[in-house]
This record gives sequence, C-alpha cells and structure tokens, in this order.
Amino acid sequence: MPTPRTYGEITGYPVGSTFRNRTELAQSQVHRPLQGGICGGKDGAESIVVSGGYIDDEDFGDEILYTGQGGNDPNTKRQIAHQQLTLGNAGLVRSQLEGYPVRVVRGAQGDPVHSPVQGFRYDGLFRVADHWSETGVDGFRIWRFRLVELESSDRPRQTVDLARPVGPAGRAEAVIQRLIRSTPEANAAKRLNDYRCQVCGLRLETPTGPYAEAAHIRALGRPHDGPDRLSNILCLCPNHHVLFDTGAIVVDDDGIVRDAMSGKEIGKLRVDLGHAINFAQLTYHRQTHKR
Ligand SMILES: [Zn+2]
Repeated sequence: MPTPRTYGEITGYPVGSTFRNRTELAQSQVHRPLQGGICGGKDGAESIVVSGGYIDDEDFGDEILYTGQGGNDPNTKRQIAHQQLTLGNAGLVRSQLEGYPVRVVRGAQGDPVHSPVQGFRYDGLFRVADHWSETGVDGFRIWRFRLVELESSDRPRQTVDLARPVGPAGRAEAVIQRLIRSTPEANAAKRLNDYRCQVCGLRLETPTGPYAEAAHIRALGRPHDGPDRLSNILCLCPNHHVLFDTGAIVVDDDGIVRDAMSGKEIGKLRVDLGHAINFAQLTYHRQTHKR
C-alpha cells in the first residue's frame, strides 16, 4: 500500500503558519518526514522544505529553483555522488505531470531574504513548472525543479485527498494545471506543420478543427530562458509532447528521434521547409535530460 498522500492546504495551517522545529512541522502534517526535504515517492510529492540543504538551491520568493534529494554529504552539504530520478525526485516529476500542488515550507537556514528568522514557516502552494538535470557546483549530476507559487485563485479551496475523492468527479479536478501557451510563434509552428506531429505525423481532428501542441525545445523561463521563436518550437501531438518534455524522447544531431532510455530509433523529425529548427536547442534538450 502506498502512503496516502494529501495534496493542497492542511486544515488549520494557513499560509504563514510557523513551527519551532521539524517535530512540530511533522506533527502538523504540513511536511511529514522528520528529515527528508521532499515528502513524496513515485506517485507524487506533496511538500518540500527549502532550508539551505543544497548548495545549488536558488530562492526568488514566488519562484524557487530546487535541488532534488540524494548524493550529498549532510555535514558539508556538498554533493559527493550523482542524484537519481527516484524517490522524492521522481515524486516531484509526477506532481509536475499531474498538476499536483506542492506545499512549500521554508526553514531559517535558507535564503535570508525569503526565509523565517527561526524555525520553519509554511509559505503556500507551488506548482512544479519544470525539471531537468545538470552538473552541480560540485561536479555531480543533480536534478533540478522549478517551482512557481500558485495564485490564490488557483488554489484548491480545501484539502485534496486523492486517495478519497469526494463527489462524482472528485476534488482532484480542482488541482489539474495545464500550461497553455498560445503565442503567435506557437500558432505559426502548428500552421506550418499543418497540425501534424513532427515525430509521428499524426494530425488530430476535433469537431472544431485540428489540434496540436507547441513544445518549446529549450524551455521558457528561468534558468533556461529559451526563446519563444519558431526555431525553438516543435509541433507535437499530446503524447509526443509529454515524452519530449520529460526527456523520454530526444532528437540527435542527425534529426533522428530516439527513445532516451533504450537509444532505439523512433523515426526522423519531420521538418517543414518553412520551419527551420535550431539544432543547438535540441542538443540543450538532450543534455538537460541526461540520466
Ligand atoms: Zn506524435
């Protein structure tokens, strides 16, 4: 039996609630583990603690670049091994895919501008906007997550217990997040490809017209800062969009689409003559999903 997870606000602990120590914090259920920074497993992550445990963490207030767990020496806080995409790290990826909100707790050891002076403070719900791997300050591979604070209007009004849905549709629907990026560039990429997936060629027909998704090769926003330009956008079907964003498929320098896990060739990227792709961004995509 997996641990039943509680996503969203915990009744009785509004944003700004403070805790003297990890024991108090764990008892509140806001963040249940006594030691780990991530409360999660491969089914999802419900909360994290940001408290300066990892040298690569960066806190911008409403946006946090968070380092996954594992591979560090708790005494020196330096990385001494590669991090794996398992346990809490896999949980944060699952929360990104499912749109689960993550409770963020800051500890006094974190960034001085955004952290409490002492103890721990619950700072609200964030969504996982992005994940990637990189080589950390100490030379080992780390997994990184970009968390973005949810607007108060996006927050579920009450605790969401996915193990026990309430009502016919279930409260889980309230937390589904879908990033919609309808920019002129994204629309142009779809039109140029006639709404056909550049990996599999599928063109989805719906009663109101064709449907495709625009996938930025090098992600927008911190820290990648990919451009919203045609040369950085692929037109994909929803399936291949998810596989591309999670690094399950990559495109090599010859334009061959491969299964990242097995290296098996899936096909050749279909490129319309009017839609030039910047292959340097595809290289960046491969590197940031190295496992
Ligand atoms: Zn496809």
